Amino acid sequence: MNLWNDILTTIGETKDRTTISLLKEIKKVELKDNTLYISTPDNVFKEWILSNFIEDIEKHASQLVGQKLNINVISEEEIRKNLNVEDNPTKIKQEEKPYRFYRLNPKFVFSNFIVGSCNKIAYSACKAVAENLGEIYNPLFIYGEVGLGKTHLLHATAHEVLSKNSNANVIYTTADTFMSELISCMRQGSILQFRQRYRDVDLLLIDDVQFLEGKERTQVEFYHIFNALHLIGKQIILSSDTSPSKLTGIQERLKTRFVCGLVTEVKPPDLETKLSIIRKKSKEIKLELPQDVMLFISKTVNTNVRELEGSLQKLKAYNQIMERPITLEVAREILKDILKIQNVEELSIQKIQKEVANYFAVNLNEMLGNSRRKKVSLARQIAMYLSRYLTDKSLAEISKAFKKKDHTTIINAIQKIEKTMERDRKLKLTVEFLRDKILTL
Ligand code: ADP
Ligand code: MG
Repeated sequence: MNLWNDILTTIGETKDRTTISLLKEIKKVELKDNTLYISTPDNVFKEWILSNFIEDIEKHASQLVGQKLNINVISEEEIRKNLNVEDNPTKIKQEEKPYRFYRLNPKFVFSNFIVGSCNKIAYSACKAVAENLGEIYNPLFIYGEVGLGKTHLLHATAHEVLSKNSNANVIYTTADTFMSELISCMRQGSILQFRQRYRDVDLLLIDDVQFLEGKERTQVEFYHIFNALHLIGKQIILSSDTSPSKLTGIQERLKTRFVCGLVTEVKPPDLETKLSIIRKKSKEIKLELPQDVMLFISKTVNTNVRELEGSLQKLKAYNQIMERPITLEVAREILKDILKIQNVEELSIQKIQKEVANYFAVNLNEMLGNSRRKKVSLARQIAMYLSRYLTDKSLAEISKAFKKKDHTTIINAIQKIEKTMERDRKLKLTVEFLRDKILTL
């Protein structure tokens, strides 16, 4: 379809080549009644598009056609199953109680939330609250940067409460939706109904309260709803991108309310947690990743979990379409744009050489020389191998750093280490130990 090609050409100006070539693999695009239907090979591909390009697609498609278009992404899996939505455990309940449930993401549950030291308190607090609504930590205030799992935790708490009592009155909303609904109710003169909606709530979850900054009228309304619920021991959970004390343009009396229960932060995941997340998420999307690729991703994607997921989805899309396994080289190439954005601190070959020499207790100069002592040449080969796999340096650059005239020595060393690792468990463990150590430097 020409429209799709035009969209990709426009998007292509800001995206890297691999991304565009993956998007080009989408063959079925149809425009019907103001809606652009895009069908993807599978659900992972769909998620990847939804979380990364949907806004761009909508914007460019609407511009090209000259009217506002809706975008509907459907995966072939769904078409086969003859479903328009994914399996959704809350679907039945949604139909029964349209207002309360429709905003919960069925995938955001406790069982697939990875707990690490970065989010342990927030996670435990949510679990505890779900067990004892209104009895401890009220309100529970969770803050942290974007993409660190706040919304996931809020939804998980709601799911948990509902799974125990499907009649529980739970409202999840974001502060900006709260505001726009309030405004529209005020316009329609139905403010009383608005208030009523929040009157008998057992659990009220308000996401992204930073949106209330500077919104005086909404804050007043929210303050009253908050007090009414809090007074009768109903549970409130709030999330925000900064701590209550750093929220500006929020009335003091509201801030005092925010901090009267438990305030807890979700922090960016540490290397260990990132690895668990990658392990679990790649399994979920049936993406096989070698250990070195997992480490590479966890080391280089260093902002948030959403980006981590985005990287995995992109690798999966590549893997699926090109039918090629993901090796370190491939991963490096595909994730180039993400890594560029993040301005990863480069691991230097010198750092690797130093660590390896240290580990084998050999002299660094000797290791970089021509010594044929067994221990020294093993250390040298391992250092060459790790330089190739842990840095973005070319073979020529690595040769230079090891004072070699051409790169055959490097290639031989890499092959030798790879081969030996296959049969020599001890060596394999040594290399892995060094690799992990260097990566956490
Ligand atoms: P926030 O609301 O803090 O911006 P989200 O809750 O939307 O972040 O999380 C972004 C994505 O990362 C979601 O897909 C979520 O499932 C995932 N995610 C975040 N933290 C974790 C975690 N600890 N374990 C599993 N998935 C996570
Ligand atoms: Mg969120």
